[in-house]
Amino acid sequence: LAQLFRPLDLLGMVYRTIRQGAIDMEAMFRLIDTPAEIEDSPGAPDLHVGAGEIRFEDVRFGYDPEREILHGVSFTIPAGRTLAIVGPTGAGKSTIARLLFRFYDMQSGRITIDGQDIAQVSQHSLRAAIGIVPQDMVLFNDTIGYNIAYGREGASQAEIEAAARGASIHDFIVSLPQGYDTRVGERGLKLSGGEKQRVAIARTLLKDPPVLILDEATSALDSRTEASIQAVLREMARRRTTIIVAHRLSTVVDADEIIVLEAGRIAERGSHAGLLAQGGVYAQMWARQAAEQESAALPAEAEA
Ligand code: ATP
Repeated sequence: LAQLFRPLDLLGMVYRTIRQGAIDMEAMFRLIDTPAEIEDSPGAPDLHVGAGEIRFEDVRFGYDPEREILHGVSFTIPAGRTLAIVGPTGAGKSTIARLLFRFYDMQSGRITIDGQDIAQVSQHSLRAAIGIVPQDMVLFNDTIGYNIAYGREGASQAEIEAAARGASIHDFIVSLPQGYDTRVGERGLKLSGGEKQRVAIARTLLKDPPVLILDEATSALDSRTEASIQAVLREMARRRTTIIVAHRLSTVVDADEIIVLEAGRIAERGSHAGLLAQGGVYAQMWARQAAEQESAALPAEAEA
């Protein structure tokens, strides 16, 4: 019998390898198409988001079941609150965000939104409820207007412009000779990192989801752009349940709860002030980043 299954195993491996390659090539959340093995359970009802409480209950997960990445992660984000996830590279921060979007199913544990298990509801309703501002947005080779409008089918020009204003990119767009009809992407106008992020924010504002995932860019933007984007993001997060995957601690200071993830486990949790007072890993990270910023401040100011 084992012999009989070997070719199937091989086929599975080839398939997984191809899929892996595809995922690696795509920017983290660009792969909106559902991985083939994630299927709706028969007659899956739609998710109904009320207040928007998110719970992770003892979530265990590995991309390869032989190599567990998250070793039993639990947290609750009360409706409308913000959870920030920090920790070293490879700790599993982005994986948590991917699981909430149900790119993968877990080995064990449960994720619920307003008490509904995300594995039991229709995927389209789950994804309609969650907005993502990714670290590195890949634009469609189309107009800048289309790239924003993608957030919601059938949006009017007035709604698109309102979203662009909310993301502080409307003035930039109308200053372009072709305005909202300017082609962007690889074959069009190249946008800067900050501009692309604003397009992502405008798209998300248009979608107006009750749940938000903000995956902070690893590469720092210049400090003025950074500050104005932070202000827009804070405003967007104010009334929504939000997860921030953070690389810079300065962006998590105001979060309702911060979890420090280390090698797939929550090492510390609390508010910024509480964690500093604990004098543990977070306090060390904070001291290190503050020192780095100080030494980087001089040349940055000279440039400005
Ligand atoms: P960073 O701060 O660098 O973005 P992170 O904390 O977000 O890191 P994850 O991207 O969640 O880390 O990755 C956690 C672990 O899972 C890493 O060891 C990584 O190699 C592994 N991993 C991530 N994506 C995949 C994937 N698609 N297939 C297999 N392993 C993966």
